[in-house]
Formats: sequence, C-alpha cells, structure tokens
Amino acid sequence: MTIPQAPGRLSLFDLPLDPVSLEATLDRLEGWLDAPRAPHTVVTLNPEFIVQSRTQPDFVNAIQVADLVTADGVGIVWAARQLAGVEVPRAPGFDIVQGLMKRRGAGLRVFFLGAKPGVAEVAAQNAARDYGIVVAGIHHGYFDLPEDQRVAELVQSSRADLLLTAMGGGRQETFNQYWRQVMNTPVMIGCGGVIDVLAGTADLAPAWTRRLGVEWIWRVGLDRKRWNRAPRLAQFVRLVRAEKKRLG
Ligand code: UDP
Repeated sequence: MTIPQAPGRLSLFDLPLDPVSLEATLDRLEGWLDAPRAPHTVVTLNPEFIVQSRTQPDFVNAIQVADLVTADGVGIVWAARQLAGVEVPRAPGFDIVQGLMKRRGAGLRVFFLGAKPGVAEVAAQNAARDYGIVVAGIHHGYFDLPEDQRVAELVQSSRADLLLTAMGGGRQETFNQYWRQVMNTPVMIGCGGVIDVLAGTADLAPAWTRRLGVEWIWRVGLDRKRWNRAPRLAQFVRLVRAEKKRLG
C-alpha cells in the first residue's frame, strides 16, 4: 500500500507540521534571506517536543506560530502516518543548518547561540573553515531569563542572517519566539545539539542510522546521558496510539 504525500500543513496534537523536504526547506530559507530583512522561526519537530510541550503552553505557542515546522526524524514521520494517513519527508535540524551553510558560504552571517561556554567558539571556527561562513556572533547557552534581553540585543546588533539557537528543546524555541521582533534575524532555528556536533564535542549519528532515519536508536542507546529520555519516547508511542483511537 502506498501512503499518499501530505498535500499541505498538517496538525499533530494541535501542533503544525509542514511536509517539506530538505531541499524545499533550504529553498524556503533562501527566499527569506533574499527578501527584505524580516524575522522567521524554524522548528524541527521531534517526539520529545510533542511530549514536553503538552505541559508547556509557551512551547506549544512557539511551535504554533513558527514560520516553518519540519519533521526532524522518523518518529514524527511515523506519527503522521498513524494520525493523518500521509507521508511527510524529513528535514532534520543538522541537515538544514549544514545545507544552508554549504549553499550560502561566505554570503551567510551566522550567530552561534548555545552549548557550554567555549563550545560555540569551536563550532564557529570549524564552520568558518569548512563552509566559509562569516561568524556574526557567539554566546554560550547557560544564562537565566533576566539575561535574555541582553542576549537578544546582541543577536540584533550582529545583523546575523542565521541564528542557531541550541539551548535544548523548549528553551530554544520559546527564546526565538519571544525575542523574534528584537532579534529580527531572517532565519532563527532551534537546533538542539547542533553546536556540539559542529564543535566535535558530540558525534553525529552514523550515516547508516541517518539514512534509515533511526538515529535516535544510536543517540538513546549509546549516549548514557540520554538514557533517561527513553521513557519519553515510550510515552510518545502511547500518546500517538491513544490519539489514533480518539480520532477513530
Ligand atoms: N544547553 C544550553 N543551555 C541550557 C541547556 C542546554 O545551551 O540551559 C545546550 C547543551 O549544552 C547542548 C544543547 O543545548 O549543547 C542541547 O542540549 P540537550 O541535548 O540537553 O537538549 P535537547 O535539544 O536534546 O532537548
């Protein structure tokens, strides 16, 4: 049985999901970069976000008003099949970030926001070396809410084209959404561990798991820090099953 492609924006647990491929995502982001300066937010939806957002109204809102919501991985693809009976392509955060840096190179000013002190510096150096991008700014991701405004103004004054906000699911999306008008950055993306991966302090999942879309097996299985997350994935499966029943 072939599953039909999703025709347009879907709704999963009241959260939007855009059925866009990686290439279509990159085309969309380039359109924003080429248009007069205006802020846009991108969310790469994953199962943990769905579970977590159910107890965080601000997180739900940040996803609902995002300009683009892509399927980060196979969990969301599975949920779309179960709940909407359609096929959605994947556009993972790391691939989006890397793809845009490759496409725009020296034409892209990037602000690296997130990870532990010192890590974003290494990520920025590596990205400048590997993709030729221009480093617009750097800030670690460990600051408290009262400091948000200062950091948002730093991003604004950097006149970055792309803001990588890698401060963990929820925090990064709500930060991008709350400060979007101040930061006024054409592409702001919440992108989890991407700064760690660019810095080489975390490894990207092996190519075979990425091809099959099952990098979570590797992430959860081999990374001890992530073992506590397995219950959230089980909870996601239960949520999807219950929702499917509810939808009839
Ligand atoms: N992080 C951060 N500030 C925080 C919490 C996390 O900058 O207050 C960074 C962390 O160092 C890592 C990234 O966010 O580089 C992703 O963290 P984690 O894997 O915990 O979050 P996930 O995105 O998987 O939820």
